[in-house]
Amino acid sequence: MATIPQHDKYVIALDQGTTSSRAVLINHEGRVVDLVQRPFAQIYPQPGWVEHNPQDILFSQIGALTELITKHGLTADTVDSIGIDNQRETTLVWDPATGAPVCNAIVWQCRRTSELVEEICGSSRVKELIRKKCGLLPDAYFSASKIRWILDTVAGARERTEAGDLLFGTVDTWLIWVLTGGLVHATDVSNASRTMLYNIHENCWDKELLALFDIPECMLPEVRRSSGFFGETSYPGLPAGIPITGVAGDQQAALFGQCCFEPGQAKNTYGTGCFMLLHTGTNAHMSKNNLVTTIVASPPNQPKTEYALEGSVFVAGALIQWLRDELGLIQTAAETSYLAKSVSDTGGVYIVPAFTGLGAPWWQPDARGEITGLTRGTTRAHLVRAALEALAYQIKDLADAMSSDCGHELAALNVDGGASANNFLMQFQADLLGCTLRRPQNTETTSLGAAYLAGLSTGYWSSTEELKALRQSDEIFVRKASEKTMERLFDGWHVAVRRTMQ
Ligand code: ADP
Repeated sequence: MATIPQHDKYVIALDQGTTSSRAVLINHEGRVVDLVQRPFAQIYPQPGWVEHNPQDILFSQIGALTELITKHGLTADTVDSIGIDNQRETTLVWDPATGAPVCNAIVWQCRRTSELVEEICGSSRVKELIRKKCGLLPDAYFSASKIRWILDTVAGARERTEAGDLLFGTVDTWLIWVLTGGLVHATDVSNASRTMLYNIHENCWDKELLALFDIPECMLPEVRRSSGFFGETSYPGLPAGIPITGVAGDQQAALFGQCCFEPGQAKNTYGTGCFMLLHTGTNAHMSKNNLVTTIVASPPNQPKTEYALEGSVFVAGALIQWLRDELGLIQTAAETSYLAKSVSDTGGVYIVPAFTGLGAPWWQPDARGEITGLTRGTTRAHLVRAALEALAYQIKDLADAMSSDCGHELAALNVDGGASANNFLMQFQADLLGCTLRRPQNTETTSLGAAYLAGLSTGYWSSTEELKALRQSDEIFVRKASEKTMERLFDGWHVAVRRTMQ
């Protein structure tokens, strides 16, 4: 049979997120041809607890994939490969003999193990150990304490695990295991680095941490590079033999999809919260400013492990939702740009959205939000503008923390996520950071990243240079305001932030 030219083939990205699963069809030019999205249920058994039914994750993902394949008449000959990106840290344990999970997946947001983490990691010695080995600040967020909770709580789980009868995986691992017909139990380095059990310097599961959390090594997946062969599809109803050749956690996939392949390159995703990553090359910088160090997804020809500094903002787009849903100040998120531009400044108003405490660099879980500087002249437009500015100030705080850890200023910031559509916000951010902001035309960077990792591994795309050339012209934002003005405003932000900590 004649071989099908690359241009008539596609890569499929499976983008498994916290609230929905998507299958994204990407062509050789790096364009999104089509996308099928299936939401699934969020389960809240108690305040602070968040679960997903593993079968919901699976069926929403496979349902989206099947619909995409059927709609476009795709076969194993026309799909070059599959790449997976996923919500990170979410924890599953299942029985490989039956494929049955022992309980619901414990979602990254779930706080049920906060006390357990305090119990196990409370001492400064253990905190330092975890920081040094994993690059993380001990938290219930990461998988380690979630696995321990399952082993301690689900009847028979520990005994079955010790007998070698149960497997652990993050969502990528669960999907790979099911899609390959139970043949492959593997994860990639970027997902492993978020478990709090992986030694990011030695690139292995860490025996000391496994002992600390009392987790048997036999349940852990094999850790592979992000761009490489994981297995082939073997699932009823799907074309057999499509290779899965790219896997990364969602934020690392977005960094890759933004073509941040070199040290010094950074991206920020403006979603419900923000996730900012700065590529630091083969240098695993240990932050002095409460940022975490994480392994990035690298191209297949990079022999060494590469790292990023990561910082997150808990409340970003969520503040805009709050203005809309709780205060009723706006009807749509999109109108905030126009409203903010309708006034020349906030009239001295600052909003610090510390609804759930302050993240990096402050790390003050007990801080609570404040609106400061209100006068009788404060209008709706001032408040809306102050909310958007708050998003930008929080990112500037992260950027400054990253610069201080690495010793150099940010040259450019690649942006994506829902709120990156806001032109006022982007211009204010560029004014504040004093560096170039690049907004790609295709902001589906997470799926692109997963697809790029898969397609580089098979040779569908030849190199990262080819991928950079695929990027359509970006919209660029550069500083227009005076540096002095921005410094003065930023000082005012810090005054307001300090108040929330009092
Ligand atoms: P997530 O993936 O975290 O669910 P998205 O990337 O889809 O988030 O972005 C949605 C968030 O962005 C919402 O919180 C919404 O309030 C905010 N948002 C969307 N459009 C705009 C806009 N034009 N201006 C400001 N915020 C916006």
